[in-house]
Amino acid sequence: SSFRSLDSQLFYPSLPLSRRPRWPRMDSSVPHHRTDQSKTKLIVLMGATGSGKSRLSIDLAGHFPHSQIVNSDKMQLFNGLDITTNKIPIHERKGVPHFLLGEFDSIDADVAASQFRSVAGTTIADIASRGNLPLLVGGSNTFIHALLVETFDPEEDVFAESGSASPVLRYDCCFVWVDMAWSVLSEYLGKRVDEMLDSGMFEELAQFYDPTKAGVMVGLRKAIGVPEFDAYFRKYPPWESPENGVVPDKDSDPIRREAYEEAVKEIKDNTYRLAKRQIGKILRLKEAGWDLTRLDATATFQALMEKKKKQPSSSPSAAAAELEWRWIWEREVVEPSVKIVKRFLEE
Ligand code: ATP
Repeated sequence: SSFRSLDSQLFYPSLPLSRRPRWPRMDSSVPHHRTDQSKTKLIVLMGATGSGKSRLSIDLAGHFPHSQIVNSDKMQLFNGLDITTNKIPIHERKGVPHFLLGEFDSIDADVAASQFRSVAGTTIADIASRGNLPLLVGGSNTFIHALLVETFDPEEDVFAESGSASPVLRYDCCFVWVDMAWSVLSEYLGKRVDEMLDSGMFEELAQFYDPTKAGVMVGLRKAIGVPEFDAYFRKYPPWESPENGVVPDKDSDPIRREAYEEAVKEIKDNTYRLAKRQIGKILRLKEAGWDLTRLDATATFQALMEKKKKQPSSSPSAAAAELEWRWIWEREVVEPSVKIVKRFLEE
């Protein structure tokens, strides 16, 4: 349909929230728009990889003290590759309990959508039964869909060209979608890969590399970074040193360096592709009648990248830029989400 081709990010980022057009609803009589006292209330944070969902979840938890977070990122379910899959580090969790984050030890098998539906369903029920507020946070939209719909058919691909998601959900959901202009997200994602490499992603992947499993693409081995570097490590195997453990090398000669750069480029390209697919799926869910409220983090991420350009990072101008982006984030993303959640909880 023509609606599907509407690209929200190109249309509205410069408009203030109050003037941004409301998305058309498919059918305002759809039952899930009415509050249903019998359903568990659930906050759902959606958005492409890198859009700030984890940060927002912690900021929201600061306003709603009984919040507990349930992960809905397919790769972050697994135990391992914390840097590569971008798990929120413990010190950034500020004591907020997280569930299904790194809890799956069987990393050599895919988690099925129906399995996620069952495990996350139990987790949410447990959180709610103790009087806490569940926040679902993560970018796997097929998992979010499988978990939330009233009836789930594992055989049906609702994201296929001819498919369509059901708007009838088994929870009383409050959806917040963090989005931003594509040009800003893509620039940020490229920088983020560089930062992940700086914080040890290459070493983490060298440690994880298993020549007997190279080319196997199931479970955690699907994480962006693993296939891309497997090809590199097959050519340039990391070695075991008694003092330093597994040591990879990227700098000993220019050809090796070039192969490394090529792997990094593939990681970036695959990350852009992932983000595009995720945004496409979110738009499909919105189109199907899911009541998503889109928040625009474009200005925040522009300011964040400005900050990263200020060197040295201890300079007064860098400190000012740090305050600036935090302030924009607070005003444009955190405050509106707090309002939305408050209204939802008072319903
Ligand atoms: P699909 O139908 O494509 O599986 P999905 O919405 O269910 O989509 P996604 O979360 O988009 O699931 O993940 C799809 C793929 O993207 C994963 O198999 C993996 O290659 C990559 N990916 C997703 N999340 C991460 C992550 N946190 N770290 C690394 N790679 C990821």
